[in-house]
Amino acid sequence: MPFDRSIEHAQSLDQADPLASFRDRFWVPKNADQTDTVYFVGNSLGLQPKNVSELIQEELQKWRELGVRGHFESESPWMPYHEMLAPTMAQIVGARENEVIVMNTLTVNLHLMMATFYRPTEKRHQILIEDHAFPSDFQAVESQIKLHGFDPRESIVTVKHGAETGLLSTELICSTIDQHRDSLALVLLPGVQYYTGQFLDIKQIAAAAHRYNISVGFDLAHAVGNVPMQLHDWDVDFAVWCNYKYLNSGPGAIGGCFVHERHATDTELPRMAGWWGHDKSTRFLMENCFDPIPTAEGWQLSNPPILALAAIRASLAVFADAGGMEPLREKSLALTGYFEQLVDAVLGDRINIITPKTQSDRGCQLSLEVKLDGVSGREIHDKLESSGTATDWREPNVIRAAPTPLYNSFADVHRFVSVLERAIS
Ligand SMILES: *Cc1c(COP(=O)(O)O)cnc(C)c1O
Repeated sequence: MPFDRSIEHAQSLDQADPLASFRDRFWVPKNADQTDTVYFVGNSLGLQPKNVSELIQEELQKWRELGVRGHFESESPWMPYHEMLAPTMAQIVGARENEVIVMNTLTVNLHLMMATFYRPTEKRHQILIEDHAFPSDFQAVESQIKLHGFDPRESIVTVKHGAETGLLSTELICSTIDQHRDSLALVLLPGVQYYTGQFLDIKQIAAAAHRYNISVGFDLAHAVGNVPMQLHDWDVDFAVWCNYKYLNSGPGAIGGCFVHERHATDTELPRMAGWWGHDKSTRFLMENCFDPIPTAEGWQLSNPPILALAAIRASLAVFADAGGMEPLREKSLALTGYFEQLVDAVLGDRINIITPKTQSDRGCQLSLEVKLDGVSGREIHDKLESSGTATDWREPNVIRAAPTPLYNSFADVHRFVSVLERAIS
């Protein structure tokens, strides 16, 4: 049967979508003509869930009416507020509750994790990263290496993206680990690569590093809330992420951090410490000692910003109501699969999709490489923006478009591809 390119087909897919009603739980930005924007930049800043305002108001009211007593009173006192986030967050990343903590921001958490998991010696001082690592990750790695008195030119090992495919090969990653087995201290890779949308084989990479007792951490900025993971079972040592992309918790939202149970319970592990990582029962004795909480909470430094946590609480409630990552992934595969088929059918001759074709190797994002042939990339992007679609353009010619299962529809995909076709022709 030929692929059905009609809008009616997209609409029928929406009608059959059990998660379709979740779109109403988000504020979808409007165009000038009051139609909904086709919002495909949830990989950059997720949309605002409608319950955010209410949950932040709740905390403002508590502060207003209770003052400092808010730490202990009400149904959601501030002292253990962050603990309420752990169950759903743990489910989203496939962890145990004692392995996750919502705190700081991604890059800060990366530094905190490297303080524990990157302790170089003369012999083992290298960190393996990808050659197109996100700048902040590269900068964090380079600065840690320098902080320890090593030379980044000798201590950074990069894995190259395939010259033809632009993708990372698990085989190459594993053979690079083999090759540097005696000098690598840490492997740090993305869960989902931000540019291509490639979902790496986290389990296999972790096993390859552990064969030689090399620590392995993942940056899950583009993976969390996008793809299902099993961080505990995959035996990842640590992971860090931000909550403002697929986790819809607002600009600059507090980030997340995973520490595997076997490390989290090890109170002897060196770390950067602060009073909020100290044993709760003795914290307020104000003694000058450090007795770490034997969970991921033991890496907390400060008492957390409650207003910011309220937004994450709101977002996690939406994920929980949707049934977690499994139903979301099911819709996501269908939505992105449809997107791919439609792009291939309508624009196959002018657009090359650089994201992996295999579903298990990608999340919801497709990175579309436009064969420009004299057309200006900037002009195409401007046309997309002025036609009520929001995507992310990377010079010279790549559009990153991420239909998310919580608030995007098959009709959104259909509209986006029509707009793109008009913009290109
Ligand atoms: C978005 C993103 C970040 C952002 O870091 P912050 O510390 O939250 O500003 C870092 N790394 C990757 C790979 C990202 O995609």
